[in-house]
Amino acid sequence: MFENLSERLGGVFERLSRQGALNEADVITALREVRVALLEADVSLAVTRDFIKAVQKKATGQAVTKSVTPGQQVIKIVHDELVAMLQGEGPAERLKIDNPPAPILMVGLQGSGKTTTSGKLARRLKEREGKKVLLASLDTQRPAAMEQLAILATQIGVDSLPIVAGESAVQIAKRAKQQATLGGYDVYILDTAGRLQIDVALMEEVAQVSQIAQPRETLLVVDGLTGQVAVEVAQEFDAKVGITGVVLTRMDGDGRGGAALSMRAVTGKPIRFVGLGEKSEALEVFDAERVAGRILGMGDIVALVEKARETFEAEQAERMAKRFAKGLFNLNDMKMQLEQMMKMGGMQGVMGMLPGMGKMAKAAEGAGFDDTMLKRQIALINSMTKKERANPDLLQAGRKKRIAAGAGLDVAELNRLLKMHRQMADVMKKMGKGGMMKQAIKMMM
Ligand code: GDP
Repeated sequence: MFENLSERLGGVFERLSRQGALNEADVITALREVRVALLEADVSLAVTRDFIKAVQKKATGQAVTKSVTPGQQVIKIVHDELVAMLQGEGPAERLKIDNPPAPILMVGLQGSGKTTTSGKLARRLKEREGKKVLLASLDTQRPAAMEQLAILATQIGVDSLPIVAGESAVQIAKRAKQQATLGGYDVYILDTAGRLQIDVALMEEVAQVSQIAQPRETLLVVDGLTGQVAVEVAQEFDAKVGITGVVLTRMDGDGRGGAALSMRAVTGKPIRFVGLGEKSEALEVFDAERVAGRILGMGDIVALVEKARETFEAEQAERMAKRFAKGLFNLNDMKMQLEQMMKMGGMQGVMGMLPGMGKMAKAAEGAGFDDTMLKRQIALINSMTKKERANPDLLQAGRKKRIAAGAGLDVAELNRLLKMHRQMADVMKKMGKGGMMKQAIKMMM
């Protein structure tokens, strides 16, 4: 899986990382190739577009870190965006299976690997988490499928619900719950019937079973080789029964991998596991970092850039702490502070981290004290010379006008910035003199 994509991206990045300096055109060319590679891997158009946009934005706004090439930095950005795309807000959480007996509902089309995955999951829960698991097949239309699950259960050494001819899916679900409760099981897995395509009757049945079973988890099993179809199936099932996660099977095959890449972005549901073969142990927890690593094959560069950035930031912080301790605070320091705030999610982000400040942040925004102000202040400082930033007292009326015009703003705004800086510098100076800053920094370190 991902071989083609990996190969193509490898070529693009190989060239990029060798270049010493990058201009915007280089980045655009590289990203155009990344775009084509993603589309060829069957990633949806909308997801690809968002992905490229996010990378482009970060690549252009990024400060250059020492000791890595710009190309290497772009690779790191692509890697991080890939992880974000695969993972959503956070790593796929563990299955919610406390409070025994916890029902897990397995849904999906016929042939997607539902029964096999039910067995794999049962084995995993038994062997890795010491759970007592009961397997039940609800496929009333296909006695062979019921037999298949019973055989699987025997092979992996877990119990399966005895087959009773003539029962409906809902009746089986009820009996499974009863048996799971009486038998002291931790988990019971309901393997529902699939159809070749989504149809109304199938959805109705699954919805009824879900109503009765009240599953803690509803896992959709989809065939990773089917590409965009897998994503559509996920959307349909989610709309009808509400899925809590996805299992992508056949990820051991040589499919293009697009389903895996756009599943999370399109459905908002996490990929929980991937199936990597027919055997009952061939199930892995989905790990976005690892998958991104496999796709890019650029682990070394990613680690290098991370390390360089950490070192760079630590050096910068240390330098700043030393200046503060001496009571020094010029416009360069202020700019760094403003940029730090932007990085932490802007005004809202910084204030949101402080308890009770959420409301304040809103009020501040109402007063024009918001992220666009941070950006405007940074722009003003950027259009000054090095000397002026170090010593703003040098600024005369003529220069002020030019600087404001350079940032596309008016002089009043620049004056406000300078006043704010003066106030901050005064506080720093007082604290520096009393040694208060030194003590505060010591306490923080
Ligand atoms: P169901 O109809 O959804 O229950 O599908 P099955 O569980 O019967 O699986 C259909 C076929 O796919 C079987 O031959 C399985 O062995 C195979 N299969 C399931 N999962 C995987 C997987 O992750 N990789 C591979 N290579 N084959 C799989």
